[in-house]
Amino acid sequence: MAKIIDGKAVSGQIKEELKAKAAEWKEKGIEITLAVIQVGKDAASSVYVGNKKKACAYIGIRSLAYELEEETTQEELLALIDELNGRKDVNGILVQLPLPAHIDESKVISAIDPQKDVDGFHPQSVGALCTGQAGFVSCTPAGIIQLLKRSGIEIAGKECVVIGRSNIVGKPMALLLLWENGTVTVAHSKTENLKEVARRADILIVAVGKPQMITREYVKEGAVVIDVGIHRKEDNKLCGDVDYDDVMSVCSAITPVPGGVGPMTIAMLMNNCVESIRLQS
Ligand code: NAD
Repeated sequence: MAKIIDGKAVSGQIKEELKAKAAEWKEKGIEITLAVIQVGKDAASSVYVGNKKKACAYIGIRSLAYELEEETTQEELLALIDELNGRKDVNGILVQLPLPAHIDESKVISAIDPQKDVDGFHPQSVGALCTGQAGFVSCTPAGIIQLLKRSGIEIAGKECVVIGRSNIVGKPMALLLLWENGTVTVAHSKTENLKEVARRADILIVAVGKPQMITREYVKEGAVVIDVGIHRKEDNKLCGDVDYDDVMSVCSAITPVPGGVGPMTIAMLMNNCVESIRLQS
């Protein structure tokens, strides 16, 4: 029977550690502050923003909410970011994605001061991750590394296959595994013989965005399977990119959905907020 990697429990540990660190900063007179900007009223985004605010309140991070109208222009949004960049009492700036179609996401991400880029999406943050310099790391892949380490799963020397090459998950995930001395393969929608490639993995990270696509034929006996995907099924239940019940019988460990990678993403966002103080001092 495969081990279930409990992201809720591990994220809980991390949050307790961060709560203590935030309290230490508060004693020194520093209140860590995150500005969260949402443009429009996308329902899923509102849930994510709500969860981020709740996590801030739990850890002792002040959160400033900017809920802007769907019609907000790119210039108005950039002007707000510019103002927040200049504010000494704001340590982190997060713009909830996706943005409405009339706004250029990459322009907005690039406008955030890299020292306040707690999502780790700024090109400078990505470059720093690539070359091993100090900077913020994208929260979901950073959370997966913590999940593996805190579950006692060795990465060094292992065959790691990442399925998906997005800027926010697949690519930074591959870089982080490389920094941990994994032997990394990145597979994607144009990969030939995907099942064969995936079956090389000792650690298989799945971020394809396709509900329950990964079945046991993609998984080597005894592999560790990390499921990044999150989807709502017709019966309103959540599922991942991995067919959990099917893969469970061949893998040695697996993350569930919900309760796997998801809670780690928020914990690492909180970690980046707390770490921002050190980057900025
Ligand atoms: P994306 O759509 O940007 O990227 C998907 C990647 O999968 C692409 O690089 C594509 O090449 C690859 N792909 C698509 N179809 C494929 C196929 N048939 N075979 C092989 N590769 C294929 O998605 P993303 O932003 O990286 O997110 C991936 C999933 O993770 C989504 O379900 C998303 O909702 C979820 N997600 C969860 C969290 C979390 O905190 N749990 C965070 C971010 C994303």
